[in-house]
Amino acid sequence: MFITFEGIDGSGKSTQITHLTNHLEAKGAEVRVFRDPGGPEVSEKVREILLNPDYSVDPITELLLFSAARSQLVSEKVLPALQEGAVVILDRFYDSTTAYQGYGRSSMPLTEIEYINRIASHKRTPDLTIYMKVPLEEAKKRMAETYKDRMEQAGDTFFNRVIEGFDRMADKEERFFTVDATKPPQQVQQLIWRQVQTLFPA
Ligand code: C5P
Repeated sequence: MFITFEGIDGSGKSTQITHLTNHLEAKGAEVRVFRDPGGPEVSEKVREILLNPDYSVDPITELLLFSAARSQLVSEKVLPALQEGAVVILDRFYDSTTAYQGYGRSSMPLTEIEYINRIASHKRTPDLTIYMKVPLEEAKKRMAETYKDRMEQAGDTFFNRVIEGFDRMADKEERFFTVDATKPPQQVQQLIWRQVQTLFPA
């Protein structure tokens, strides 16, 4: 089972990933959780480059670096774990690239981004994508004001385009399950668990 979480920063993905992991483990599942970009050492190094506010990164370089980190994550961690029968949960996957590098940065036409996404993901599509939908104002309230990574320094126009990207994908793609992430965390947790159970009854 391959589950991804998507949404803008401050949408509460990490909290819900922890809850879902605990729930699945309590049911006896072997669960592996990774973040994208990140996971294997190579991908974590690429993540450091991507998020460093001291670097100026060209939009196409950015797209390719996110994709490079993803390819290593999929080949080194995701595919072997799925092969072993584990449940894999990812904090972001290629839909983030469509939303951020595609809709947000407009770095390339969407069809070309989708093509790169297919290569970087080794053609592995998630079984379920949980989209934590939250308005920008609410997300901003939740985000720490102290430190902002390079990507978080973008303005509201950028983030509104990112949200539009996620919304459009959620409307179009069957595998998306949209959750109103402004609801109390406990309620969000129940909605997610119900959906996971519908698709993969224990
Ligand atoms: O969600 P996480 O904290 O791992 O993401 C790190 C940063 O990279 C965040 O600011 C996120 O918005 C950004 N990001 C991005 N494009 C992606 C994935 C993440 O701009 N494809």
